[in-house]
Amino acid sequence: MRQIAIYGKGGIGKSTTTQNLTAGLSEIGKNVMVVGCDPKADSTRLLLGGLAQRTVLDTLREEGEDVDLDYILKRGFNGIRCVESGGPEPGVGCAGRGIITSINMLERLGAYTEDLDYVFYDVLGDVVCGGFAMPIREGKAKEIYIVASGEMMALYAANNISKGIKRYAKKGGVRLGGIICNSRKVENEKELIEAFAEELGTQLIYFVPRDNVVQEAEIHKQTVIQFDPDSNQAKEYRSLAKAIESNDKFVIPKPMSQQRLEEIFLRHGLTDKNLSAV
Ligand code: ADP
Ligand code: MG
Repeated sequence: MRQIAIYGKGGIGKSTTTQNLTAGLSEIGKNVMVVGCDPKADSTRLLLGGLAQRTVLDTLREEGEDVDLDYILKRGFNGIRCVESGGPEPGVGCAGRGIITSINMLERLGAYTEDLDYVFYDVLGDVVCGGFAMPIREGKAKEIYIVASGEMMALYAANNISKGIKRYAKKGGVRLGGIICNSRKVENEKELIEAFAEELGTQLIYFVPRDNVVQEAEIHKQTVIQFDPDSNQAKEYRSLAKAIESNDKFVIPKPMSQQRLEEIFLRHGLTDKNLSAV
């Protein structure tokens, strides 16, 4: 069983990418569970055809611990198992702490069955701090991918997340498997992220293009793979799934200084026209 955490700044496309790539994995016969670790509880909406009815934390609050697994775990597209950890009421308590509570409850209720090939944790967080580090701190997820784009803030967040990974990599066996670029159509984006990934000691594992079919599918509460299986974007997500399936490059990242990050932007994030002015 491979347990994988997907990190990246808010709004970068973690949930969309995770659901589409797990849909892709399910198509090649893999048994997958997706655990949403974002208080928004929208990590499985496209797989379930709507928001999950009950989060783990809501269930614990309202029903206590004595519930059946199928109360909090629902089967979505192609049988993918979907769980939302949920969060505390806004402004109260640490949102990240709910994650470990959820994982513990899943373990107790027997969610981690032998037949599972993959468990994905879709984790909110610009930095791997406190509660949001839980899946990797507790040694659950050993493999991490960071979703980023060529925008400064996305790479700034990716670098910060790498600092957290590095910290836990020394104690546990956590490794970075690569950067997934979810394109924002930034100038020279692929080259920029490749340079950033190389500096981190990792790889650009896949470049996912930006495509309006993603929003169209989202309006229909579906992954692109379900909504428009013959589209180019569906093929891209299948290729991403295969890239992860066959990945064997796992590293302890080497986070860079802010100055170095800015240098990479200056060198790679500009057009030829701008470059001549540097
Ligand atoms: P996160 O989970 O990181 O907060 P989401 O997955 O919710 O981000 O994505 C944020 C928005 O970006 C969504 O409305 C989604 O439709 C859109 N989006 C994500 N990836 C793509 C893409 N490759 N092309 C077009 N839109 C995308
Ligand atoms: Mg999300």
